[in-house]
Amino acid sequence: MLSHSWHSPAVRVTLSAALLAWYDRHRRRLPWRAERGAAADPYTVWLSEVMLQQTTVAAVGPRFESFRARWPSFAALAVADDAAVMSAWAGLGYYARARNMLACARAVAAEHGGVLPDTESALRQLPGVGDYTAAAIAAIAFGRRAAVVDGNVERVVSRLFAIGEPLPGARTAIKARVAELTPAERPGDYAQATMDLGAMICTPRRPACALCPVAEWCVARATGEQERYPVKPTKRERPRRYGTAYWLEDESRVLLVRRPATGLLGGMRALPTGPWEDAPPGLVGAPSDADWELLARRGVEHGFTHFHLTLALAQATGTSDMAGEWWPVGELGSAGLPTVFRRAAEAFVEELGVVE
Ligand code: SF4
Repeated sequence: MLSHSWHSPAVRVTLSAALLAWYDRHRRRLPWRAERGAAADPYTVWLSEVMLQQTTVAAVGPRFESFRARWPSFAALAVADDAAVMSAWAGLGYYARARNMLACARAVAAEHGGVLPDTESALRQLPGVGDYTAAAIAAIAFGRRAAVVDGNVERVVSRLFAIGEPLPGARTAIKARVAELTPAERPGDYAQATMDLGAMICTPRRPACALCPVAEWCVARATGEQERYPVKPTKRERPRRYGTAYWLEDESRVLLVRRPATGLLGGMRALPTGPWEDAPPGLVGAPSDADWELLARRGVEHGFTHFHLTLALAQATGTSDMAGEWWPVGELGSAGLPTVFRRAAEAFVEELGVVE
Protein backbone atom coordinates (compact mmCIF):
# COMPACT_ATOMS: atom_id res chain seq x y z
CA MET A 1 0.00 0.00 0.00
CA LEU A 2 2.70 2.47 0.94
CA SER A 3 4.85 1.45 -1.98
CA HIS A 4 2.94 3.87 -4.23
CA SER A 5 5.12 6.74 -5.26
CA TRP A 6 3.23 9.93 -4.54
CA HIS A 7 5.16 11.69 -7.23
CA SER A 8 4.01 9.28 -9.85
CA PRO A 9 1.53 11.01 -12.16
CA ALA A 10 -0.19 7.67 -12.67
CA VAL A 11 -1.02 7.38 -8.97
CA ARG A 12 -2.28 10.95 -8.84
CA VAL A 13 -4.54 10.39 -11.81
CA THR A 14 -5.90 7.15 -10.35
CA LEU A 15 -6.55 8.70 -6.97
CA SER A 16 -8.28 11.75 -8.44
CA ALA A 17 -10.36 9.55 -10.72
CA ALA A 18 -11.44 7.36 -7.79
CA LEU A 19 -12.49 10.42 -5.83
CA LEU A 20 -14.44 11.88 -8.77
CA ALA A 21 -16.21 8.57 -9.37
CA TRP A 22 -17.22 8.49 -5.71
CA TYR A 23 -18.42 12.11 -5.96
CA ASP A 24 -20.59 11.29 -8.93
CA ARG A 25 -22.42 8.69 -6.87
CA HIS A 26 -22.42 10.14 -3.37
CA ARG A 27 -22.04 13.90 -3.53
CA ARG A 28 -24.12 16.11 -1.28
CA ARG A 29 -27.07 17.73 -2.96
CA LEU A 30 -26.76 21.40 -2.04
CA PRO A 31 -28.98 24.22 -3.30
CA TRP A 32 -26.06 26.12 -4.85
CA ARG A 33 -24.55 23.17 -6.70
CA ALA A 34 -25.09 22.73 -10.42
CA GLU A 35 -26.42 19.38 -11.58
CA ARG A 36 -23.84 17.03 -12.96
CA GLY A 37 -22.63 18.20 -16.35
CA ALA A 38 -24.42 21.55 -16.10
CA ALA A 39 -22.38 24.76 -16.13
CA ALA A 40 -22.11 26.43 -12.74
CA ASP A 41 -23.55 29.93 -12.40
CA PRO A 42 -20.75 32.25 -11.17
CA TYR A 43 -23.12 34.44 -9.15
CA THR A 44 -24.52 31.39 -7.37
CA VAL A 45 -21.05 30.01 -6.64
CA TRP A 46 -19.81 33.35 -5.35
CA LEU A 47 -22.91 33.93 -3.20
CA SER A 48 -22.70 30.47 -1.64
CA GLU A 49 -19.00 30.78 -0.90
CA VAL A 50 -19.47 34.17 0.75
CA MET A 51 -22.42 32.91 2.79
CA LEU A 52 -20.52 29.80 3.86
CA GLN A 53 -17.49 31.67 5.20
CA GLN A 54 -17.30 30.85 8.92
CA THR A 55 -20.79 29.34 8.77
CA THR A 56 -21.99 25.77 8.36
CA VAL A 57 -23.76 24.27 5.37
CA ALA A 58 -26.70 23.48 7.67
CA ALA A 59 -27.09 27.16 8.67
CA VAL A 60 -26.75 28.56 5.14
CA GLY A 61 -28.90 25.96 3.35
CA PRO A 62 -32.37 27.28 4.25
CA ARG A 63 -31.39 30.95 3.75
CA PHE A 64 -29.68 30.59 0.42
CA GLU A 65 -32.69 30.06 -1.83
CA SER A 66 -34.68 33.02 -0.52
CA PHE A 67 -31.63 35.25 -0.68
CA ARG A 68 -30.90 34.33 -4.27
CA ALA A 69 -34.58 34.63 -5.25
CA ARG A 70 -34.70 38.15 -3.88
CA TRP A 71 -31.37 39.24 -5.38
CA PRO A 72 -30.73 36.94 -8.34
CA SER A 73 -27.70 38.67 -9.89
CA PHE A 74 -24.81 41.01 -9.21
CA ALA A 75 -26.80 43.81 -10.83
CA ALA A 76 -29.77 43.23 -8.50
CA LEU A 77 -27.64 42.94 -5.39
CA ALA A 78 -25.58 46.00 -6.31
CA VAL A 79 -28.67 48.25 -6.07
CA ALA A 80 -30.17 46.53 -3.05
CA ASP A 81 -31.08 48.51 0.03
CA ASP A 82 -28.31 47.96 2.62
CA ALA A 83 -30.74 47.60 5.51
CA ALA A 84 -32.81 45.01 3.63
CA VAL A 85 -29.71 42.92 2.91
CA MET A 86 -28.51 43.18 6.49
CA SER A 87 -31.86 42.06 7.85
CA ALA A 88 -32.01 39.15 5.38
CA TRP A 89 -28.55 38.21 6.64
CA ALA A 90 -29.61 38.34 10.31
CA GLY A 91 -28.73 35.16 12.12
CA LEU A 92 -25.81 34.24 9.88
CA GLY A 93 -23.41 36.27 12.02
CA TYR A 94 -20.16 37.98 11.09
CA TYR A 95 -21.89 41.01 9.63
CA ALA A 96 -18.67 42.30 8.10
CA ARG A 97 -19.18 39.53 5.53
CA ALA A 98 -22.56 40.97 4.53
CA ARG A 99 -21.05 44.41 4.12
CA ASN A 100 -18.18 42.96 2.06
CA MET A 101 -20.67 41.03 -0.01
CA LEU A 102 -22.53 44.23 -0.91
CA ALA A 103 -19.25 46.03 -1.64
CA CYS A 104 -18.20 43.12 -3.86
CA ALA A 105 -21.48 43.08 -5.79
CA ARG A 106 -21.15 46.83 -6.36
CA ALA A 107 -17.53 46.47 -7.50
CA VAL A 108 -18.49 43.71 -9.94
CA ALA A 109 -21.36 45.85 -11.26
CA ALA A 110 -19.35 49.06 -11.52
CA GLU A 111 -15.93 47.79 -12.57
CA HIS A 112 -16.58 44.49 -14.37
CA GLY A 113 -19.85 45.14 -16.17
CA GLY A 114 -21.74 42.84 -13.79
CA VAL A 115 -19.61 39.84 -14.76
CA LEU A 116 -17.41 38.13 -12.20
CA PRO A 117 -13.72 37.99 -13.22
CA ASP A 118 -12.63 34.43 -13.95
CA THR A 119 -9.07 34.20 -12.60
CA GLU A 120 -7.89 33.67 -9.04
CA SER A 121 -5.73 36.78 -9.05
CA ALA A 122 -8.50 39.07 -10.32
CA LEU A 123 -11.03 37.53 -7.92
CA ARG A 124 -8.68 38.17 -5.02
CA GLN A 125 -8.87 41.90 -5.69
CA LEU A 126 -12.58 41.96 -4.83
CA PRO A 127 -13.86 42.89 -1.34
CA GLY A 128 -14.30 39.87 0.94
CA VAL A 129 -12.61 37.43 -1.45
CA GLY A 130 -9.54 35.83 0.13
CA ASP A 131 -7.25 33.06 -1.11
CA TYR A 132 -9.66 30.23 -0.38
CA THR A 133 -12.73 31.91 -1.86
CA ALA A 134 -10.85 33.02 -4.98
CA ALA A 135 -9.57 29.47 -5.58
CA ALA A 136 -12.98 27.92 -4.93
CA ILE A 137 -14.77 30.29 -7.35
CA ALA A 138 -12.06 29.91 -10.02
CA ALA A 139 -12.29 26.12 -9.85
CA ILE A 140 -16.04 25.63 -9.37
CA ALA A 141 -17.43 28.47 -11.48
CA PHE A 142 -14.75 28.69 -14.18
CA GLY A 143 -13.09 25.28 -14.33
CA ARG A 144 -9.66 26.67 -13.44
CA ARG A 145 -7.12 24.25 -12.03
CA ALA A 146 -6.91 26.04 -8.66
CA ALA A 147 -5.82 24.40 -5.40
CA VAL A 148 -8.81 24.74 -3.09
CA VAL A 149 -8.05 24.15 0.58
CA ASP A 150 -10.68 24.49 3.30
CA GLY A 151 -10.81 22.73 6.68
CA ASN A 152 -12.22 19.51 5.21
CA VAL A 153 -9.56 19.38 2.50
CA GLU A 154 -6.86 20.05 5.10
CA ARG A 155 -7.97 17.04 7.10
CA VAL A 156 -8.25 14.67 4.14
CA VAL A 157 -4.92 15.61 2.59
CA SER A 158 -2.95 15.71 5.83
CA ARG A 159 -4.18 12.16 6.49
CA LEU A 160 -3.56 10.89 2.97
CA PHE A 161 0.07 12.00 3.18
CA ALA A 162 0.52 11.76 6.97
CA ILE A 163 1.78 15.34 7.06
CA GLY A 164 3.43 15.56 10.49
CA GLU A 165 4.01 19.28 10.61
CA PRO A 166 1.47 21.05 12.85
CA LEU A 167 -1.02 23.59 11.54
CA PRO A 168 -0.85 26.36 10.52
CA GLY A 169 2.68 25.74 9.15
CA ALA A 170 1.49 22.55 7.42
CA ARG A 171 -0.75 24.58 5.10
CA THR A 172 2.05 25.16 2.63
CA ALA A 173 2.69 21.42 2.27
CA ILE A 174 -1.04 20.68 2.12
CA LYS A 175 -1.61 23.25 -0.60
CA ALA A 176 1.31 21.84 -2.61
CA ARG A 177 -0.19 18.34 -2.41
CA VAL A 178 -3.63 19.62 -3.39
CA ALA A 179 -2.07 21.42 -6.37
CA GLU A 180 -0.43 18.15 -7.46
CA LEU A 181 -3.61 16.12 -7.07
CA THR A 182 -6.05 18.56 -8.69
CA PRO A 183 -6.78 17.33 -12.20
CA ALA A 184 -6.97 19.54 -15.26
CA GLU A 185 -10.40 18.06 -16.03
CA ARG A 186 -13.21 18.85 -13.60
CA PRO A 187 -11.08 20.72 -11.03
CA GLY A 188 -14.21 22.23 -9.45
CA ASP A 189 -15.83 18.83 -8.97
CA TYR A 190 -12.54 17.51 -7.63
CA ALA A 191 -12.42 20.30 -5.02
CA GLN A 192 -16.01 19.65 -3.99
CA ALA A 193 -15.36 15.91 -3.91
CA THR A 194 -12.55 16.38 -1.40
CA MET A 195 -14.74 18.67 0.68
CA ASP A 196 -17.57 16.15 0.65
CA LEU A 197 -15.22 13.33 1.55
CA GLY A 198 -14.06 15.37 4.55
CA ALA A 199 -17.63 16.22 5.57
CA MET A 200 -19.12 12.73 5.11
CA ILE A 201 -16.38 10.08 5.40
CA CYS A 202 -13.07 11.52 6.58
CA THR A 203 -14.62 13.13 9.63
CA PRO A 204 -12.57 14.59 12.48
CA ARG A 205 -13.35 11.60 14.71
CA ARG A 206 -13.75 8.00 13.67
CA PRO A 207 -13.41 8.45 9.92
CA ALA A 208 -15.28 5.80 7.96
CA CYS A 209 -12.19 4.48 6.19
CA ALA A 210 -13.97 1.30 5.10
CA LEU A 211 -16.17 3.45 2.84
CA CYS A 212 -13.41 5.73 1.62
CA PRO A 213 -12.67 5.72 -2.11
CA VAL A 214 -9.02 6.71 -1.59
CA ALA A 215 -8.28 4.42 1.36
CA GLU A 216 -5.73 2.37 -0.53
CA TRP A 217 -3.47 5.40 -0.88
CA CYS A 218 -3.90 6.74 2.64
CA VAL A 219 -0.77 6.66 4.78
CA ALA A 220 -2.59 7.58 8.01
CA ARG A 221 -4.96 4.69 7.53
CA ALA A 222 -2.08 2.30 6.85
CA THR A 223 -0.46 3.25 10.14
CA GLY A 224 -3.75 3.43 12.06
CA GLU A 225 -3.14 7.04 13.03
CA GLN A 226 -6.01 8.78 11.24
CA GLU A 227 -7.03 10.98 14.16
CA ARG A 228 -3.49 12.24 14.65
CA TYR A 229 -3.87 14.37 11.51
CA PRO A 230 -4.03 17.25 10.91
CA VAL A 231 -1.53 17.82 13.71
CA LYS A 232 -2.79 20.60 15.97
CA PRO A 233 -0.55 23.57 16.77
CA THR A 234 1.47 23.00 19.91
CA LYS A 235 0.33 25.17 22.74
CA ARG A 236 3.01 27.54 23.79
CA GLU A 237 4.15 26.87 27.35
CA ARG A 238 3.40 29.86 29.50
CA PRO A 239 6.49 31.11 31.32
CA ARG A 240 6.56 30.55 35.08
CA ARG A 241 7.09 33.27 37.60
CA TYR A 242 7.55 33.14 41.34
CA GLY A 243 6.56 35.45 44.14
CA THR A 244 5.80 35.47 47.86
CA ALA A 245 2.51 36.38 49.47
CA TYR A 246 2.74 37.86 52.96
CA TRP A 247 0.32 37.20 55.78
CA LEU A 248 0.82 39.77 58.53
CA GLU A 249 -1.67 39.17 61.31
CA ASP A 250 -2.63 41.02 64.46
CA GLU A 251 -5.54 40.10 66.68
CA SER A 252 -7.33 38.05 63.99
CA ARG A 253 -6.91 40.81 61.45
CA VAL A 254 -4.70 40.55 58.40
CA LEU A 255 -2.99 43.29 56.42
CA LEU A 256 -4.41 43.90 52.95
CA VAL A 257 -3.12 46.41 50.43
CA ARG A 258 -4.37 48.01 47.21
CA ARG A 259 -2.41 47.02 44.17
CA PRO A 260 -1.08 49.85 41.99
CA ALA A 261 -3.78 51.25 39.71
CA THR A 262 -1.99 50.19 36.55
CA GLY A 263 -0.70 46.71 35.77
CA LEU A 264 -1.96 43.24 36.56
CA LEU A 265 -4.96 43.18 38.95
CA GLY A 266 -4.60 46.98 39.05
CA GLY A 267 -6.41 48.72 41.88
CA MET A 268 -7.61 45.51 43.48
CA ARG A 269 -7.39 44.59 47.13
CA ALA A 270 -4.68 41.97 47.75
CA LEU A 271 -2.28 40.41 50.17
CA PRO A 272 1.10 42.15 50.06
CA THR A 273 3.55 40.51 47.67
CA GLY A 274 7.08 41.27 46.58
CA PRO A 275 8.27 41.15 42.95
CA TRP A 276 7.20 38.31 40.63
CA GLU A 277 10.37 36.92 39.09
CA ASP A 278 11.88 34.00 37.17
CA ALA A 279 13.17 32.43 40.40
CA PRO A 280 11.68 32.36 43.90
CA PRO A 281 12.45 35.78 45.44
CA GLY A 282 12.34 34.58 49.07
CA LEU A 283 11.46 37.39 51.46
CA VAL A 284 12.29 40.24 49.08
CA GLY A 285 9.62 42.94 49.28
CA ALA A 286 8.19 41.92 52.65
CA PRO A 287 5.85 44.66 53.98
CA SER A 288 7.70 44.96 57.30
CA ASP A 289 10.91 43.83 58.95
CA ALA A 290 9.01 41.41 61.16
CA ASP A 291 10.37 37.95 61.83
CA TRP A 292 8.99 36.28 58.68
CA GLU A 293 8.58 32.54 58.42
CA LEU A 294 8.29 30.92 54.98
CA LEU A 295 5.69 28.21 55.25
CA ALA A 296 6.83 24.81 54.08
CA ARG A 297 3.82 24.01 51.93
CA ARG A 298 4.22 24.23 48.17
CA GLY A 299 2.49 27.53 47.79
CA VAL A 300 -0.29 28.60 45.51
CA GLU A 301 -0.37 27.97 41.77
CA HIS A 302 -2.26 30.34 39.49
CA GLY A 303 -2.45 30.68 35.72
CA PHE A 304 -2.62 34.18 34.29
CA THR A 305 -3.09 34.67 30.56
CA HIS A 306 0.60 35.19 29.82
CA PHE A 307 2.38 33.40 32.64
CA HIS A 308 1.99 30.94 35.43
CA LEU A 309 2.58 32.13 38.98
CA THR A 310 3.80 30.14 41.97
CA LEU A 311 3.31 32.09 45.18
CA ALA A 312 5.24 31.04 48.28
CA LEU A 313 3.60 31.90 51.57
CA ALA A 314 5.26 33.78 54.42
CA GLN A 315 3.68 34.73 57.70
CA ALA A 316 4.51 36.93 60.67
CA THR A 317 2.81 38.70 63.52
CA GLY A 318 2.41 42.42 63.02
CA THR A 319 1.06 45.47 64.73
CA SER A 320 -2.07 46.96 63.38
CA ASP A 321 -0.80 50.51 63.52
CA MET A 322 0.91 49.81 60.16
CA ALA A 323 -0.59 51.55 57.14
CA GLY A 324 -2.98 49.42 55.13
CA GLU A 325 -6.33 47.80 55.64
CA TRP A 326 -6.49 45.40 58.58
CA TRP A 327 -9.23 43.05 57.57
CA PRO A 328 -10.95 40.61 59.95
CA VAL A 329 -9.75 37.14 58.98
CA GLY A 330 -13.23 35.74 59.45
CA GLU A 331 -14.61 38.21 56.88
CA LEU A 332 -12.07 37.78 54.11
CA GLY A 333 -14.83 36.39 51.91
CA SER A 334 -16.20 39.94 51.56
CA ALA A 335 -12.85 41.57 50.74
CA GLY A 336 -13.27 41.05 46.98
CA LEU A 337 -9.85 39.47 46.62
CA PRO A 338 -8.95 38.32 43.10
CA THR A 339 -8.71 34.55 42.75
CA VAL A 340 -4.97 34.20 43.25
CA PHE A 341 -5.12 36.09 46.56
CA ARG A 342 -8.30 34.40 47.68
CA ARG A 343 -6.53 31.08 47.19
CA ALA A 344 -3.47 32.31 49.03
CA ALA A 345 -5.64 33.51 51.93
CA GLU A 346 -7.40 30.14 52.05
CA ALA A 347 -4.02 28.40 52.09
CA PHE A 348 -2.85 30.56 54.99
CA VAL A 349 -6.01 29.94 56.97
CA GLU A 350 -5.68 26.22 56.33
CA GLU A 351 -1.99 26.20 57.22
CA LEU A 352 -2.14 28.42 60.26
CA GLY A 353 -5.40 27.08 61.59
CA VAL A 354 -6.84 30.57 62.02
CA VAL A 355 -10.24 30.41 63.64
CA GLU A 356 -12.78 32.26 61.48
S1 SF4 B 1 -8.71 6.27 4.46
FE1 SF4 B 1 -9.69 7.15 6.23
S2 SF4 B 1 -8.26 8.68 7.02
FE2 SF4 B 1 -7.62 8.16 4.93
S3 SF4 B 1 -8.61 9.71 3.66
FE3 SF4 B 1 -9.98 7.95 3.71
S4 SF4 B 1 -11.39 8.35 5.43
FE4 SF4 B 1 -9.64 9.74 5.62
